[in-house]
Amino acid sequence: MKSLIQFIIIILLSSKAFGQAEIALFSPVDGAIKADLDLGLIDDYALLNADETNWNTILNEHPTAIRISIPYKDEVLVFDLNEAILFKSGFKVKTASGLEIDYAAENKSIFYQGVVLGHEGSHIAFSVLNNQIIGVGSIPGIGDINLGKLPDHNYYILYAEPALDGQNNFECHTDGDYEESPNLTPSEDRAVVEDCSSLYFEVDYDIFLALGGVTESADYMMALFNEIQFLYELDDITVYISELKVWDELSPYYLEGDTGVLLGLFGTTTTVWEGDLGHLVTISAGGGLAYVNVFCAANQAIRKAVSGISLTFAAVPIYSWSVEVIAHEMGHNMGSPHTHACFWNGDATAIDGCGPDAGFDEGCVGLLPPLGGTVMSYCHLTAVGINLGFGFGLQPGLYMRNNIIAADCLESCDLQVMDIQVTGGSITATCENSPVFGEMSVINNGNENMTYFTGNVYLDGVLFNTFTWSGLILEGEAGTFTLPSFSLPLGSYVMTIELELPDGYDDEDMSDNSITFTFDVTPFPEAAFTPDPDHLLSYKATTTMINETTGAVGYEWDMGDGTPSVVAVNPTHTYPFEYGGYYEVELLATSAFGCIDTAYGYVLVDGVNIYYIPNTFTPDGDSFNDVFLPVFAANLDIYDYHMVIYNRWGEVMFESLNVATGWDGTYGDRGVVKDGVYAWTIEFGDLSSDEKHSISGHVTVLH
Ligand SMILES: [Zn+2]
Repeated sequence: MKSLIQFIIIILLSSKAFGQAEIALFSPVDGAIKADLDLGLIDDYALLNADETNWNTILNEHPTAIRISIPYKDEVLVFDLNEAILFKSGFKVKTASGLEIDYAAENKSIFYQGVVLGHEGSHIAFSVLNNQIIGVGSIPGIGDINLGKLPDHNYYILYAEPALDGQNNFECHTDGDYEESPNLTPSEDRAVVEDCSSLYFEVDYDIFLALGGVTESADYMMALFNEIQFLYELDDITVYISELKVWDELSPYYLEGDTGVLLGLFGTTTTVWEGDLGHLVTISAGGGLAYVNVFCAANQAIRKAVSGISLTFAAVPIYSWSVEVIAHEMGHNMGSPHTHACFWNGDATAIDGCGPDAGFDEGCVGLLPPLGGTVMSYCHLTAVGINLGFGFGLQPGLYMRNNIIAADCLESCDLQVMDIQVTGGSITATCENSPVFGEMSVINNGNENMTYFTGNVYLDGVLFNTFTWSGLILEGEAGTFTLPSFSLPLGSYVMTIELELPDGYDDEDMSDNSITFTFDVTPFPEAAFTPDPDHLLSYKATTTMINETTGAVGYEWDMGDGTPSVVAVNPTHTYPFEYGGYYEVELLATSAFGCIDTAYGYVLVDGVNIYYIPNTFTPDGDSFNDVFLPVFAANLDIYDYHMVIYNRWGEVMFESLNVATGWDGTYGDRGVVKDGVYAWTIEFGDLSSDEKHSISGHVTVLH
């Protein structure tokens, strides 16, 4: 039997468009162009062109895992990256002028964190933004690396910090009033930190002016935070952005260079904000300043820090220095003194001597770490520099983790991410004005269970139907749903199904929420046939079905007599010999697109009674012809049978109501009758009708 549903469209979308293939997002710029550039700060770097096509593909498809290959000097660096979550679902960017921007919904930027393949101990934060691409990280043996767009060119630059001429001059005059030196002997097992610290960022007006827009400013802050979050995560401290405000109008901080004044203004200007720690980021500040150890402080103005990122806006983007200052000031908020403070090692001594070496003595001496200092050091002011690859170091990391564990106002780390992805589907049964059936496959890419979503069905670009789905798809699991029933007239259609999460939930990636089908709604066939002949006799009961169907390619017949169905165009069929009556014949005719029509016809078979009455029998006990037994071959109603045998005087000698029971030649208990001729009558009914028959005759008994 042919499949009844032949019209199936299947579209399968890859869940990760790129898989683990390496994407060449950058290509080297011609050497002659590089030779003509004078960047001042640096001459050892890779000059690159960004591939717009691959860039746009990443923005549009949002792969959750990705590998980026970048030519750098004599090798190709391969960044092996996974998507990073920097903020909670529903995160909004606010502006001083009162705008609220649903960041994830209105912005394609995506953030990744990962490693450089083949470089053990490396880490890289890679931000693919709408308007630029920013990479910050550290590769052991190469140094802290920066990837960014040159401000006055369309080229990108990838370089290692040691190649820079000049110095990160940020100063941090945070007052370290430390009363004791805790015993911070790091153990192999790091404390489990269940709680997270959420950050409120305020991006000053000078950054807004330099970047030219709210989204650009927010993107930029996110890209810096991407590496900051990664640095903290490498020390098992989870931080995320709870709120971000961009000054899109003149701020009270504008052009103020004194970090002490800025920190005070920040405390009094913005008094209502969301987060555990607040941070003002501005170009004009010369350095950074933070209150120390202020988790859960009742006074919001105390839970704050300020960072200046002027060097990021130099002729060469130096994101790593901006990351250092912001991460450093956040570290103070979380309780860490400088590494040159007289606080560490359990005996109130310093971890390193970078502070005194740079002229900022806190009372203790120490060595210059030859490979660079940690985030809470002043080594950026010395020849060795800060090495982001070392993170915060063992003692500051442990001390901050202990402070987070002790802080009872912090919330759980569970960043809610909702993201539904349509992975495939099919549309079936598209016959004229009949129910269209569609089944879709989805994946819950979020970290929450999915119980509800809304679907919009568009036909040729116009909203046609909206439906809701409720059920349960566990986080990370796949599920299916079916479209509500609807029907369409004949025609060709482009149908798009787009899914939306309930109000209050932002989908991380709307670009994979829809699926589009192109299909035709086709007509039904017209099933018809005529049995020829349609009036049969039970002993001559063969007929042919003359097929008169139009618009079909497949035919299946049920002849109505219990025999198996037949697949043929014009089948010939013989009805059973034993029974007469009407038979209902059913034809299922199927079009090339699986649309089915049904036709019925009737065949009348006249049941003809066929019987044989012997005229002689020999009841002599020789087992041969010992009984007078009429034989009925067809159409006898066995419940309507009566045979009577009479003698010459009309006496009833034998009678039977059972067609299987014949006369054995005896008359009651008088034994076998004499030779002679005896009369019989038989009354019987037809099986196929109510008709009654009465026949009579004579039988000769011989011995
Ligand atoms: Zn400091």
